[in-house]
Amino acid sequence: MVVCPICSNRKSFNVIEGPDKRAYTKCNNCQLIFTGTCFHLSVNEEKKRYSEHKNGIEYPGYVEFLNQAIEPALPHLSRNMNGLDFGCGPTPTLSVLLKKQGYKCDDYDPIFFPEITKKVYDFIFATECFEHFFFPGKELRKIHDMLRPQGFLIVMTETWRTEEAFSSWYYARDLTHVSFYHNRTFKFIAEKFGFIIHNSHNPRVVILQKQNSGNH
Ligand SMILES: [Zn+2]
Repeated sequence: MVVCPICSNRKSFNVIEGPDKRAYTKCNNCQLIFTGTCFHLSVNEEKKRYSEHKNGIEYPGYVEFLNQAIEPALPHLSRNMNGLDFGCGPTPTLSVLLKKQGYKCDDYDPIFFPEITKKVYDFIFATECFEHFFFPGKELRKIHDMLRPQGFLIVMTETWRTEEAFSSWYYARDLTHVSFYHNRTFKFIAEKFGFIIHNSHNPRVVILQKQNSGNH
């Protein structure tokens, strides 16, 4: 039985044509498009692929890419806050960029940096990692629990626009990408988990602020 990994809908889905041979399902309730679990890579396969990425502070293109998430977030942050880079990958970069500007930021990655040092954070960045989540609802619950009330979650992931465009979308060709969000998916997430959405002026970046009484 198909169950949406964000909203737990079991009834209303569309089968979607993707750019590769994988099977894609669109949840008609929260608009998440996701691949079947049989297309989830093993930890070793994921590790190998992530280790091949050319990421790090020495790559100006990558730094510029991450700055897309950092710049719109900075007005919400202050230097006495504790931050976390959730899904930092094998070469922590975002935390290094923040530290250079005087902000505190820990690293977490389920494969490469599995230990989380603090229980609660004032802000959490999740750049280019939501699309890798096998079970986004589970990860969102974890992130929500780690954020203090009024804390910020800054997500960077490319959102899908139309089903037609999805069928040839480069972003879905990466086998480590398994969950694809629509703007409306983030509206649903905000309502379900108790966030408000701030304008980032960039469709790839979503700034969510935890409300005092989230009802996840
Ligand atoms: Zn759903």
